[in-house]
Amino acid sequence: MTLNELTGRTTDHLIFEENTNRYFHKDIYQDYLRLKSEALQQGIELYVLSSFRSFENQLTIWNKKARGERTLLDDDGNALRYADMSPNEVLFSILRWSALPGASRHHWGTDIDFVDKKTWPEGYDVQLIPSEFNEGGHFSKFRNWFDHSIDNNNGFGFFRPYQRDLQGVAPEMWHLSHKDISAKLLSAYSMDLFRAHLQALDPSQIELHSEIVNNQEEIYNRFVINIS
Ligand SMILES: [Zn+2]
Repeated sequence: MTLNELTGRTTDHLIFEENTNRYFHKDIYQDYLRLKSEALQQGIELYVLSSFRSFENQLTIWNKKARGERTLLDDDGNALRYADMSPNEVLFSILRWSALPGASRHHWGTDIDFVDKKTWPEGYDVQLIPSEFNEGGHFSKFRNWFDHSIDNNNGFGFFRPYQRDLQGVAPEMWHLSHKDISAKLLSAYSMDLFRAHLQALDPSQIELHSEIVNNQEEIYNRFVINIS
């Protein structure tokens, strides 16, 4: 495992799937196909909203949010007032919902955001917020199926790293991760590696650079290693 694989700067460890137009870690691909077929047997059509994301993709998301060009959300998914927030508040409110570029599990190809195509109303713009997956939400059937799969089938090799609120990343019932392969990647992602990644960043390229550097220990402890 290299720094580049862990921080989204290469696709060498990935497989490209044409029908979804997405990349997946080569060692999870068979399990991903099985998960989809198990779901389909229960009438759930897993649709990949996001799998691998590159450093550059994540940087674009990050910089838009840090400049207030994309809405920042509170813990319940309600919009925050950017103009009233300090740089420190902006930093930590972004991190509740979006990872720091280079520190996203989506860089690994082991983590996937899913919705159910069968219950996705036509024309509905998916927001990936808790209410969509709670009782009465469009994707509650998928959520309940995966809850049941965790209890009865060990999640078919997958789990939700953001299942409970641990004061790091907000609960994300749509975000599934391959247990064994992501565990290996996470154990390789040390504080030393994170520090080396930050040192290699170009300060003019990423918003909130000094705020990030000043809070690196807390970012690592709350938003990288702190999972369910
Ligand atoms: Zn995700």
